[in-house]
This record gives sequence, structure tokens and C-alpha cells, in this order.
Amino acid sequence: MVAPIATMSCRCGTVRGTLTGATPDSVNRAVCYCDDCQAFAHWLSRADLLDAHGGSDIVQFAPGAFTIDSGHDAIACVRLGPQGIFRFYATCCKTPVGNTVKPSIPFIGVPVQAFGQGAQEADRTFGRPAGRIMARFAIGQPPDASQGIGAWLMLRAVAKVLWWRLSGRSGPHPLMSRDTGEPLFSVTVLSRQERDSLRPLCGPHPTASAPAASTT
Ligand SMILES: [Zn+2]
Ligand SMILES: [Zn+2]
Repeated sequence: MVAPIATMSCRCGTVRGTLTGATPDSVNRAVCYCDDCQAFAHWLSRADLLDAHGGSDIVQFAPGAFTIDSGHDAIACVRLGPQGIFRFYATCCKTPVGNTVKPSIPFIGVPVQAFGQGAQEADRTFGRPAGRIMARFAIGQPPDASQGIGAWLMLRAVAKVLWWRLSGRSGPHPLMSRDTGEPLFSVTVLSRQERDSLRPLCGPHPTASAPAASTT
């Protein structure tokens, strides 16, 4: 059987990628309301990627299942602080193209919107979100959400990552060097001040509203 493929693209089409083996069983899909994911979207001026409660709908998969096919020159990375996870994005149009921690924890997370599928098609490709987590940062009351990382979802995610590792799908890693553990693209680390300046935009009780979305 041919493994189903999902293509990823930044909004302007410069950065394109391919996810091989895109099935509900081979990915982990969850909505994260955490303030870091919200801050990242606001830092990119991409609040349009957040749902009404500030949630990011993320598809996670094995690094070895994902390739970047074009637009390498347009990829950069930001960390919201010195210990923050690596958040890669397309500099051309500020689309997230991969969140990851380090090569030894082999997963990459991409917002479902980057796969350019309608809601129903995305549900068929990736399955519906297995959970909604970190709702203590959500704006308002999202339905069926856990305040933290639900135990079941955590177990499921850890099992998947372990399986990806054991089955040899930790690499090739499209975003990180597995030799050095360092990102393959240039990294900006936000200062405490820069990070704090994003907080008023984020849940649970935003005190500022996002500037009108950029259309570039
Ligand atoms: Zn782009
Ligand atoms: Zn998050």
C-alpha cells in the first residue's frame, strides 16, 4: 500500500514540505491553549491561526516522515526564552513550519492549517484532535478541554514519540542536526522583555487585542 502523503505549505507557497504516511494512526493531533503557543502566533502576527479560545490545532509526527522540499532560505527559528522549544517558521509570510524540542525527542508539530486542507478533509487525514490541553490559558471556556496536559493524552503522545524513535523514524531530521542537536536554521531567542510584551495579547485574560492581521 502506498503511504498517504500530505503536503505542507506556508501561506505564500515559498516553503513547502511533504509528510509521508499521513494517517490518523501515525500522527498526534491536539489543540494547545498554552500561553507560549499563543505568544508565538502573536509574535508572528498570525493570530488568524488561533481558534476563538486562543487554541493552536497542532499535528505532530515523526521527523523522519517529513521533508522540506523548497524555501529552505526562508526558514528561521525562534525560542520564546533560553529554554524554549524550537519554533521554526517561514520568514516570507510568518507561517509556523515546525515546533520541536531536540532530536532525541523525535517529534515535529505543525499547525493543521499549514496542510491547506478544509476542516473535514483534515479530520479524515489526521483524525480529529485527540484532546484539548492547557485550557487554563484558554480565552473563555473551550469545550472538552483539560486544564493541564491530560494524563491520557500525555501517555498517548509519549507512546507515539517512543514508537517513532524505536522504529527508526527520528531522522533524517529536516530541522535539527542530529549530530550537534542544534537547529539547521538561524535562531532568535526572545529577551525576557520581548517575551513579556506578548503576554497582554494572550489568555486566559488578554488585556490587549492583536493588531489587524497582516496580509503579506
Ligand atoms: Zn511564505
Ligand atoms: Zn502550546
